[in-house]
Amino acid sequence: MKTTETTGGSQRPLSLSDLNVNQLAARVSDLGAESYRVTQILDGAWRSVATAWSGVTTFGKPLQERLANEIRFSAFDEVERQEAEDGATTKLLLTLSDGAKVEAVLMRSPADPRRGSGPRATVCVSSQAGCAVGCPFCATGELGFTRNLSAGEIQDQVRIARQILRTEDRELTNVVYMGMGEPLQNIDAVFASIDGLTDPARGGIGQRRITVSTSGVVPGIERLAKQRPQITLAVSLHAARNPLRDLLVPLNRKWPVEAVISAADSHSRATGRRTTYEVTMIDGINDRAEDSAALASLLRGSGAHVNLIPMNAVAHTPWQESKPERIEQIANQLRAAGLTVTVRRNRGREAGAACGQLAAEKAGAPTPVAVARRRELLVAASAAALQGQRTAQPIAPSGPLGGDA
Ligand code: SAH
Ligand code: SF4
Repeated sequence: MKTTETTGGSQRPLSLSDLNVNQLAARVSDLGAESYRVTQILDGAWRSVATAWSGVTTFGKPLQERLANEIRFSAFDEVERQEAEDGATTKLLLTLSDGAKVEAVLMRSPADPRRGSGPRATVCVSSQAGCAVGCPFCATGELGFTRNLSAGEIQDQVRIARQILRTEDRELTNVVYMGMGEPLQNIDAVFASIDGLTDPARGGIGQRRITVSTSGVVPGIERLAKQRPQITLAVSLHAARNPLRDLLVPLNRKWPVEAVISAADSHSRATGRRTTYEVTMIDGINDRAEDSAALASLLRGSGAHVNLIPMNAVAHTPWQESKPERIEQIANQLRAAGLTVTVRRNRGREAGAACGQLAAEKAGAPTPVAVARRRELLVAASAAALQGQRTAQPIAPSGPLGGDA
């Protein structure tokens, strides 16, 4: 029986990474091929630089052709590559089989002898096309939600990153679920992708080298602690006070600050792993004295790690990144509260991609009217939030930027 998916009305075979080992073995047997071919197929996919069945040279043309008819070699129809930061960052814009686009970013860093760490290569993967959470400073949030990615579509982002690194004689060291989408709102596929990526036949990365970043989906954090306890949890906090966090992370209306912190603390206790909190720093919005004091007192004594990320400017918001001096002051204030703090320089900033910005760019320029309207709403909502007023309704994303919606 052929395994198929429906994409835009046409039946197309499933991609290799969407098959687990048993399913793959069944397919191979249906094709009349020997069972040892399964290992050869996985080696060809995960330990070579082949981009199509025709590049897997451990078996002959007839089997290559039979496989090509039955199983798609890659989850992506198109891979567009952009280099940035003198080759330290590679951005991949990936077209899925139904035309949806997502991005993955590969970041390389040299060895750091002071920390005793070797060279690192981290791939940041997307878990959804678009995102339903709608954080107003995020380009993906502004795109709205298109669909969940499958486990195979997530894994193949890592496969491509590994292939790129192989040509450079480098190893992939880390995977972070910090691209487009809210991973814990697509948790089954995310867990299945983690299981695939940690399988020795598919790269075999250690669970401890994987980080899942969430905007605060409390039941998802609980499941992560129970079911994949070695994974590192990153929580996008952005604000310690509910009125402001309601605005910055609309999901806060459902799971407010206290619920998110309590879930992260339980995760940390259950797994023995330190939580990372991410705070995107926005000038005059979440970097004011009362906010940094609230953040320090909220996290004091938690032993957490805080990552301060200067906001990347995005077209639809009136906001800008915080001043570097202010970020440094806040970092010191948090250190004084016993936290470890890093200030992240946004990777890939020059070519415009942090969290979905590349895909947003490709979707087309937003209309000036939509941008102006959005800005007005944000100015009013942030003024209310700064006065401590909680607003009932999130600001709805204006749909795909420049698209038909
Ligand atoms: N949805 C998940 C994971 C993807 S977003 C989450 O929100 O955690 C990954 C990180 O990028 C988050 O911390 C998010 O807040 C941050 N981010 C999004 N837009 C940004 C921007 N314009 N500038 C800086 N960081 C941004
Ligand atoms: Fe979604 Fe994360 Fe962007 Fe918020 S920051 S809209 S949760 S991708």
